[in-house]
Amino acid sequence: MPPLPKPSLEEYDAIVIGGGSGAMGMSRRAAQYGAKVVVIEEDGRLGGTCVNVGCVPKKLMWHAADLADALRETPEYGFGDAEGKPINAEPKFQWRYFAEKRDAYVRRLNGIYDRNLEKDKVEYLSGHAKILGPNEVEVSLRGDDGKFDAGTHTIKGKKIVIATGGRPTKPSEEQVPGAHLGIDSDGFFALREQPKRVAVVGAGYIAVELAGVFNTLGTETHLLIRHDTFLRNFDPIIAETLQDYMSKTGLNVHQKTNIKKVEGKEGDHMSKTGLNVHQKTNIKKVEGKEGGPLTLHLDTGKTLEVDTLLWAIGRRPNTDNLGLESAGVKTDDKGNIAVDDYQNTNVPSIHALGDVAGKALLTPVAIAAGRRLSNRLYGGPQFANDRLDYNNIPTVVFSHPTSGTVGLTEPEAKEKFGEENIKIYTSRFTAMYFGMLEHKQPTAYKLVCAGKEEKVVGVHIIGLGSDEIMQGVGIAVKMGATKADFDNTVAIHPTSAEELVTMR
Ligand code: FAD
Ligand code: NDP
Repeated sequence: MPPLPKPSLEEYDAIVIGGGSGAMGMSRRAAQYGAKVVVIEEDGRLGGTCVNVGCVPKKLMWHAADLADALRETPEYGFGDAEGKPINAEPKFQWRYFAEKRDAYVRRLNGIYDRNLEKDKVEYLSGHAKILGPNEVEVSLRGDDGKFDAGTHTIKGKKIVIATGGRPTKPSEEQVPGAHLGIDSDGFFALREQPKRVAVVGAGYIAVELAGVFNTLGTETHLLIRHDTFLRNFDPIIAETLQDYMSKTGLNVHQKTNIKKVEGKEGDHMSKTGLNVHQKTNIKKVEGKEGGPLTLHLDTGKTLEVDTLLWAIGRRPNTDNLGLESAGVKTDDKGNIAVDDYQNTNVPSIHALGDVAGKALLTPVAIAAGRRLSNRLYGGPQFANDRLDYNNIPTVVFSHPTSGTVGLTEPEAKEKFGEENIKIYTSRFTAMYFGMLEHKQPTAYKLVCAGKEEKVVGVHIIGLGSDEIMQGVGIAVKMGATKADFDNTVAIHPTSAEELVTMR
């Protein structure tokens, strides 16, 4: 169902600002308890970052890249053409074809999200929301042209829930002249041509994932990091194994490197599509020839010529023009909305969750925080203290190969329990899939155990299938499993994961 042309009520039980993961989790659960809920989303489509410019299109690009790797391996697995001759193991990836198919899939999901709200009787307004006070929100409705000029309404809510997410950052022109010539992760999904040469700047999930996609699909890829390693918040076994492997696959990791200046012209695909890529306009805007070349002046004194520059240096919360000051909602020193363990802000009627609250920026976290907030507010006495426990959240980096992590890293565990109370089990091996191939991906596993009972307080894995293995491991760690529990579990053979229950 399309969004309503105007609000149907003057007062709601909850006004939810945002139409992404957190908002969907919160609003649907609240409505299932019978609360009158309205969702306000300004982007013109539901789903937020994850569905439109995050997890979903990213994972599809990862699958395409993974397939490219698999195709390279087909001759060694005995595949040939009808005459038995080796097949072309380096086929050309049709970027535009795939991007359009991917975006059509995303549009289908947008429709499913519309219908889910309708099914749960959550009202949906397409527009920009601005808080006027502790119980009041102004909605500027979005017209077909994407402008917020289709009418303004003031609505009241017993509760206001802020789930406005975040957006990518770029350096300012003062910091890096020419920085605007680069795209960000939103711009990545607007690309319609595969760049021949790309520089990705950053050292977190997005930089590593997108550099991996480019490299695996055949783009000459440069990853520029400020320090010696990327993924510095992860256990060292992941960064070390991945960085070493990446260099073997031709991905150029430039350590301790910053860009001082960017020169070049603005390409069509790098134009103003960088922020807020709108479904109805992005294809029109990004069609055309590739931009560049760009010259990157590095602080190492060298220059680097690329066609596309992609900034992946972090995200900032969407709090601009949100009216936080009108209600007196406090933010922390990074600009995230400050909340307690129960998603309460300092204003009793206002809650915040998901990326805008700045803790564990992951879709399932936003959804779970939203659902639990609704349980607590509307679910009756048994949920009076319900809240999301932010400890032991499993997460995966869709690198090539994938890596997964849950719990404490080795340095964190040593800090928390003391080195003498920690036992580390590690295993490095080649997955059977690669055993007989010339080109091998590495696998490395680490269990971090604490105390005499060897409670497993951290698991860090990289290698084929790590993304799918991690969820089950997350359950075990959340339940407080010990090394003995792992050992008492019979292995599944032949898999990589069996190594987790046979480590000595
Ligand atoms: P969002 O999903 O960002 O939703 C917020 C919504 O609020 C937006 O749609 C925005 O338009 C709207 N909004 C903002 N201000 C207003 C306003 N004033 N009025 C009305 N509407 C407003 N997480 C994972 O778990 N796994 C992954 O594989 C993964 N991959 C990612 C890949 C990329 C490239 C990126 C960028 C992120 C990825 N994430 C991933 C993170 C994940 O997308 C976010 O953690 C998640 O989307 C956060 O949900 P949210 O509801 O807090 O915010
Ligand atoms: P992150 O905050 O994770 O990483 C950005 C990193 O870039 C920083 O940690 C920093 O690393 C480096 N950096 C910061 N500023 C600069 C600079 N000026 N120049 C060069 N490097 C810089 O942000 P991302 O944008 O990668 O992702 C945002 C969040 O989205 C993630 O934290 C994650 O929670 C979520 N996400 C989850 C995914 C998943 O679940 N698979 C996938 C993608 C995103 P250093 O200090 O080492 O230089």
